[in-house]
Amino acid sequence: MSETIRFDLPQTDIPTQWYNIQADLPRPLPPVLHPGTHQPVGPDDLAPLFPMALIGQEVSQDRWIDIPDEVREIYKLWRPTPLLRARRLEKALDTPAHIYYKYEGVSPSGSHKLNTATAQAYYNKQEGINGLTTETGAGQWGTALSQACNFFDMECIVYMVKISYQQKPYRRAIMQTFGASVTASPSDTTDAGKAILAKDPDSTGSLGIAISEAVEVAAKSGGKYKYALGSVLNHVLMHQTVIGLESLKQMEIAGEYPDVVVGPTGGGSNFAGITLPFLHKNLTEGKITRLLGVEPAACPSLTRGKYAYDFGDTAGMTPLVKMYTLGHDFVPPPLHAGGLRYHGMASIICEMWDQELMEMNAISQMETFSAAITFAKTEGIVPAPEAAHGIAGAIREALAAKEAGEERVILFNLCGHGHFDMSAYDAYLGGELSDYEYPQEQIDKAIESLPQIG
Ligand SMILES: *Cc1c(COP(=O)(O)O)cnc(C)c1O
Repeated sequence: MSETIRFDLPQTDIPTQWYNIQADLPRPLPPVLHPGTHQPVGPDDLAPLFPMALIGQEVSQDRWIDIPDEVREIYKLWRPTPLLRARRLEKALDTPAHIYYKYEGVSPSGSHKLNTATAQAYYNKQEGINGLTTETGAGQWGTALSQACNFFDMECIVYMVKISYQQKPYRRAIMQTFGASVTASPSDTTDAGKAILAKDPDSTGSLGIAISEAVEVAAKSGGKYKYALGSVLNHVLMHQTVIGLESLKQMEIAGEYPDVVVGPTGGGSNFAGITLPFLHKNLTEGKITRLLGVEPAACPSLTRGKYAYDFGDTAGMTPLVKMYTLGHDFVPPPLHAGGLRYHGMASIICEMWDQELMEMNAISQMETFSAAITFAKTEGIVPAPEAAHGIAGAIREALAAKEAGEERVILFNLCGHGHFDMSAYDAYLGGELSDYEYPQEQIDKAIESLPQIG
């Protein structure tokens, strides 16, 4: 066998600029509203939480934004990440499709999250901030931010969703290894946490609750701490475009161009990271690559949510963002892909969906784990359960190509490895998992409590 299956780039090919989709979206993003006045928020409203450089990036209409040298220096630890052709998976599926994957699990944190954590820590440090607060669900974001804060000699205060804190002690320990302080959420260290515990002392937490706690600590710190979010925001999605920009070059080396690009969607950042540079080509060069998101059937923000203004957190402290939402009161089922259990979705992804620039599959937990095992056995990498949603989407595409007798070129984002998720695999292999469809009446109920915007 002399076929090339791995397409590497030299370090000089680490992108020097991030791509900003806001310059090219056919219809601009809807404004973000102040939770009290319902007027569009300005920089002053966001300044208690974010440094000015990131507030600027959040609303920038510039197509390309320079990546600071200090950030590229740290990217060198794992970037450019490899792009591989999954020949063994193709063979196992007996498909004429060509399947490629971009592997972000080689980062020190094990997922794509360090791409933005590094940038966010850098800009905060530049503006004299010495600590960041954040939330983490499955633990990937908390791990990445702990590492990034450590690189820039900053404090890191993490609110970890209680169920994950209990199920994933090694995730907590890795954050602590990098010097972070980690608290199970809901906690009694914040007003938001205390209010939840008063209503439900046994609450296992949610990302929305943990966000409320982290935001509260930053907002009340008198400027000592700012807050960092691992997904959803425009600047976060933009930082992730290094994934797609590298992939464009690597696909060129492979001598192919994808017919479809696939990624899982929680808040939307890894999906945006791999797809936006291809969307740029669709919008400006007449390419027609399909962009396919995959969300869990148990947390179906895009496919079953409502496009409306909602809070990003549970306590209603964040600005109001127009998004496909299951309602900020939505308490997701204890799904094993913790990183995909968010009630909403990034504004950029919601507009892509609303403007029909992308497609979406909702895939159940059992199909996802089955895809994960097939991938692990053929390609040798145990994927994060979140990433396995992307694999399941890619496998559906490869089987559809087989049915149609097409040599479809598929690229998917393998956004993280699953080495800290073996309890989920253990549950699957032990026959303890099942599928779960979120009941419509519960979605209807959560949507009833959406804020009324006049
Ligand atoms: C955080 C995470 C996700 C979900 O977040 P996105 O912003 O949608 O990417 C998915 N996969 C992995 C491995 C993650 O760490």
